[in-house]
Amino acid sequence: MLDINTSLKSVPRITPKYIRVLEKLGLFTVKDLLLYLPFRYDDFSKIVPLSNDFVGQAITAEGKIIKAKNNRLFRRKMTITEIILEDQNRNLLKAVWFNQSYILENFPVGSTARFSGKLGTNGKYFSMSNPAFEKSTRDATNTGCLVPIYSETSGITSKWIRWQIKTLLPLAKNIPDILSVEIRKKYNLSDIYTTLSQIHFPDSSEKLIRAQKRMAFQEMFLVQLKTLEIKKEFEEKDSNKIKFDEKLIKNFVSNLPFKLTNAQRKSTFEILKDLEKSHPMNRLLNGDVGSGKTIVAAISALQTISAGYQIALMAPTEVLARQHFLSFSEIFKNYDFNIALLTSSYKLVYQKNKNKIIPRNDLLEKIASGKINLVIGTHALIQKDVKFRNLALVIIDEQHRFGVNQRATLQQNIPRESASSPRESAQQVPHLLTMTATPIPRTLAIAFFGSLDLSILDEMPKNRKPIITKIIAPTGREKVYSFIRSEIKKNRQVFVILPLVEESLSESMLDVKAVKAEHERLSREIFPEFKLGLLHGKMKAKEKEEVMEEFKNKNFDILVSTSVVEVGIDIPNATIIVIENVERFGLTQLHQFRGRVGRGKEQSYCFLFSEKKPARLNIMEKTNDGFEISEHDLKLRGPGQFFGTIQSGLPDIAMEHLSNVKLIKFARTEAKDLLENDPKLKGHPLLADALKKFSEKIHLE
Ligand code: ADP
Ligand code: MG
Repeated sequence: MLDINTSLKSVPRITPKYIRVLEKLGLFTVKDLLLYLPFRYDDFSKIVPLSNDFVGQAITAEGKIIKAKNNRLFRRKMTITEIILEDQNRNLLKAVWFNQSYILENFPVGSTARFSGKLGTNGKYFSMSNPAFEKSTRDATNTGCLVPIYSETSGITSKWIRWQIKTLLPLAKNIPDILSVEIRKKYNLSDIYTTLSQIHFPDSSEKLIRAQKRMAFQEMFLVQLKTLEIKKEFEEKDSNKIKFDEKLIKNFVSNLPFKLTNAQRKSTFEILKDLEKSHPMNRLLNGDVGSGKTIVAAISALQTISAGYQIALMAPTEVLARQHFLSFSEIFKNYDFNIALLTSSYKLVYQKNKNKIIPRNDLLEKIASGKINLVIGTHALIQKDVKFRNLALVIIDEQHRFGVNQRATLQQNIPRESASSPRESAQQVPHLLTMTATPIPRTLAIAFFGSLDLSILDEMPKNRKPIITKIIAPTGREKVYSFIRSEIKKNRQVFVILPLVEESLSESMLDVKAVKAEHERLSREIFPEFKLGLLHGKMKAKEKEEVMEEFKNKNFDILVSTSVVEVGIDIPNATIIVIENVERFGLTQLHQFRGRVGRGKEQSYCFLFSEKKPARLNIMEKTNDGFEISEHDLKLRGPGQFFGTIQSGLPDIAMEHLSNVKLIKFARTEAKDLLENDPKLKGHPLLADALKKFSEKIHLE
């Protein structure tokens, strides 16, 4: 007898060939398969009479087969299956398929069928190419309904999955519901069986939405349980209490060349208060590009070093690490601190205004003995042999660019061997400050970073002039180019950014080709009188750095680059940024690029080159406020862009409903209540189990 825990291997229709693919998808039992959810739907629910009104739309036609044949095109090694269906009004539909000759056997002349697809017409016939098909005698599963599309891997089709799930679905009645009856009642959520039935085979889009809401709530509930659990774990660990030295901080702040913004003050205070606690800080400093995160981090560093502890600052790239090294060296030039830069190509120690390169082992020795106060680096920092003497604060810049494990490793780098009292220190965990320049909408921050405390820099330093942004149609190009000429003559510098040619996570050779071609075009045809640099992701870190360095030193007037230009790079003299093909970028991303300029005293400009001038870009002209733009972007494109599904591991269903603030709040309230009464979930074994599985696949820190 089949049940939900039966291995898929014992399901009669599933052959070993399929087992292999299913296992790759992480599906082992009947229950796993039933919980494998579609990521989208084809809406074939309209079964309609053939009519010109529906041409161009996805529909389902039903009728009698009056002609059916396979045409073999030997020379092109292709078979075309052609079936003509006559509907009740005697209108004709010609359906064709390529290389699927087996279809013919299913539809003998005289039988009835449903075909679903986009309706076309060639005058004599209505037409469909490669439609989904089904005998009329069958339940509407592949045609005539909202047809679920599953993420497929080779060897397995959505149609096959639908077929399997259809027969196994009654077993879903035995899946225990991890949401209690009370919660379901309170928020009007359907039970798990109804939910799964409607998600796999929706009766209507209303019922489907209700089912998706329930799944989204469930996912969000688990997310909240998990984040609260992480938060609690943090609170149970010990850390070094670092006393707030008011005089020290006041003195430092009053000697800064500028006045801190209120947001900077508030954030700094929140951090310094956290450092005084005996359990580790876990705080995210979220502030737009240029909002001044560095100085906030520096004040935390000052307090920590002055209390006699070490600090590690990790940045995602060499260029950024080096920039931080230079900034911190400058900020602390009047202090007697030893600051080191550790990346794979640099081992640098800053000692009283003297940069010097020393062998890696010597540097590691200095770190281990505590001679170095502040180590700045890339992931070179988390190599096994990097040992600290008394690391009390870890700062991570652009946190989203690191994997969870990398972050955890650095934080767990607890002093053991050299501690004076091993028993005491073994439990001690450094305080953690993460920083990000991606303005994260509040709802999302609550949803995903519920385990972190949040400090927000939502205020720009006063001396900034807002960047002037213009969307430029192709006809406006020349004018922009001549404006650029006049600005360069005033000694300003320019970024030109090209998007990735293909949508992918990293740059391809195609992108390199495109950026080279644009560099060539601009150098020869547009700006022959100026010097142009080139930057792309296929260059070695060292090369990239040299190019940035040269740009900074004004050896180039214009830097043509793919989207690799690092977040956080500081070139105050660059006052113009041109972004090509802006259609390819999200608003949040465009805003990040824009932040490359506007860092100095001069007026800065951002030109967005666009063929189509899509309306969604208008907000870029209207505001420089990153939080406003990201809220807007969240509404337009959903939350996926802030944390790719890949990164968070959350299913699309939950992601789609994330802009639903109420749902997040309800889930959080319920999770809090539950954990207060049953912190270890002892009375909720189902939930505990679901949470464990869930934790394995998603990352929330
Ligand atoms: P980000 O938040 O992008 O890391 P930075 O910390 O690099 O921003 O700061 C950008 C620039 O603004 C730096 O040159 C910094 O010295 C300057 N800055 C920071 N805070 C202030 C302030 N309150 N007033 C004026 N300038 C500031
Ligand atoms: Mg920064």
